[in-house]
Amino acid sequence: MKVIDIIQQAPKTVFSFELLPPLKGQMADKLYRTIDELIEFNPKYINITTHRDEVEFRELPNGMMEKKTVRKRPGTVAIAAAIQHSYKIPVIPHVVCGGFTKEETENMLLDLNFLGIKNVLALRGDGLKSQSTFVPEPDGHSHANELVKQIVNLKRGEYLDPEIKNTAALDFCIGVAGYPEKHFEASNLDIDLLHLKAKVDAGADYIVTQMFFDNQKYYDFVDRCRAIGITVPIIPGIKPLALINQVTVLPKLFSIDIPEAFAKEVRKCKSNDDAREVGTAWAIEQSRDLIAHNVPCLHIYTYGLSDNTRQIAKAVM
Ligand code: FAD
Repeated sequence: MKVIDIIQQAPKTVFSFELLPPLKGQMADKLYRTIDELIEFNPKYINITTHRDEVEFRELPNGMMEKKTVRKRPGTVAIAAAIQHSYKIPVIPHVVCGGFTKEETENMLLDLNFLGIKNVLALRGDGLKSQSTFVPEPDGHSHANELVKQIVNLKRGEYLDPEIKNTAALDFCIGVAGYPEKHFEASNLDIDLLHLKAKVDAGADYIVTQMFFDNQKYYDFVDRCRAIGITVPIIPGIKPLALINQVTVLPKLFSIDIPEAFAKEVRKCKSNDDAREVGTAWAIEQSRDLIAHNVPCLHIYTYGLSDNTRQIAKAVM
């Protein structure tokens, strides 16, 4: 089933969560355990992130540096299909522009179609750590709106190679990312919103937001989206804070604010267990308020942790 149909047909707020593919060298059993622990709360779909190749410099025994390209979490397509087939709930793999040519993206989308996957989240991805700005592949996309256009073309049976005749149309529901507190590269929220609108105008069916810890930021964002004619559902993304240091790390990594009242409580914590309790309680309050405002879905960034996500689901769903 497609995400857009799930949320439009649901009589009340539904629940979804996001997982990372296993690190290279590890099996998927931990991932399955996380899903097993959350499945009783009836999640309507599960997102699986995608991780591009990274470039690392490693010191050799002779003191020279070796440049190595590594993908630390491969396997999104396979793990997405395996989960969807085992648990019989829709899985939404993330498709990123960074590190991929248009041809590779087309082939990935074909694989997803063969595997029965009908949903994708279309993203640009971040630049490499060694690059100051995002650099697309020579034949890749620069922005997510271009990726959305490519997926929409495939929905019409238009492949990259015009020589391919009698093509089958690939049927995907497309989600895109939105940033209530602005994407870190955008010079202001107005321009960021226009870029978001371009993704929706290109054919995105819904938006899922970056994490936020102050619901007012999400409500204001939704109002501003509606004011410029973005009418698709906007799904809030919730991250339960789980470590003391996340009070400084998350704002830096995701360009978001942590309200002082919450940050103060986290700073008082003596251990990460205490911080996780405070973080879960905050996420429960956020979730209750969002549900009271009839949001279509609560999307929880689990980062592979099921216990706090279970507590939230138990408290609010
Ligand atoms: P875009 O929509 O392309 O926007 C990026 C920046 O460019 C913004 O500042 C925007 O204002 C600007 N911009 C957009 N379009 C244009 C245009 N046409 N011309 C000029 N400027 C433009 N990353 C991963 O690597 N893997 C994941 O699995 C992943 N999952 C995510 C899930 C969610 C829900 C979210 C919110 C983010 C996720 N990310 C993931 C991170 C995401 O890839 C980064 O935030 C990335 O920097 C931006 O991606 P985007 O799709 O929003 O890009």
